[in-house]
Amino acid sequence: MKKILISSAVFCFTAFTFVACKKDAKTPNQAEEISQATLSKIKDLGFANSNVRKVEEGYLVEGDIVLTDDLLNSSPNQSLLRIADNEQYRTTNLVTHVPRTITIGISGLGSAYVQGADVAISRYNGLGLQIVFQRITSGKADITIQGFNQPPSGGYITLGSSGFPTRQGDPYGTIKMNTNQYAYGTNPDPTYVGSVIQHELGHCIGFRHTDYMDRSYSCGGAYSNEGASNIGAILIPGTPSGPDANSWMLACSSGKDRTFNSNDKVALNYLY
Ligand SMILES: [Zn+2]
Repeated sequence: MKKILISSAVFCFTAFTFVACKKDAKTPNQAEEISQATLSKIKDLGFANSNVRKVEEGYLVEGDIVLTDDLLNSSPNQSLLRIADNEQYRTTNLVTHVPRTITIGISGLGSAYVQGADVAISRYNGLGLQIVFQRITSGKADITIQGFNQPPSGGYITLGSSGFPTRQGDPYGTIKMNTNQYAYGTNPDPTYVGSVIQHELGHCIGFRHTDYMDRSYSCGGAYSNEGASNIGAILIPGTPSGPDANSWMLACSSGKDRTFNSNDKVALNYLY
């Protein structure tokens, strides 16, 4: 998930609305590292293959989603979950063997991130899904939340990143949260940090960006279709047909706390 920094001279962390979110500009070196075969695989999975970045765990698309080699070499069970005109969740692999408890550990992060994780966990668990999150303080967790420090670039900053479930049906194992002061400020608000963890957990269990069909919905700027459109849709009867903003899986952050809206809950309950 990303957010824009309003002014290049004075960074402001309290007055964000839905504002533009640009992608990382590739350096020539990064572009050279990604083979045409890999770009084709990314496209075959339904993701735009422009502005792809090579990262440690695989390839970063849409600003905060890691596609691993394992996922790129698979044929995920993909479907488009459509629950309102502007609410479309394209799922990739899902977490299987439910009901199950997914443990979450936090490594090397301060209290705001621990509290934030607890906020996100309680919000998911409050939905009564077949997956239950539990924070643990010892032993190997299913999902580890760890930090990275990346300054703003080009007027925007990455808040966090994660990836999709494995082919074996396990959740993605790592969430990275930006500890740079321009991400959450010097005194992070646990509910805001928690809402970003909530978003990244959404990827970990298989959710794409709600607005992947048109990234400008949350990020501003020009129309931008991030993925393929020739896939089947799962229609959820009885859900609103009009637009419904403030989904927890919008590509760009509002810069403040954001949780599940009513359609998000429908989607989560449908899948889990
Ligand atoms: Zn995201």
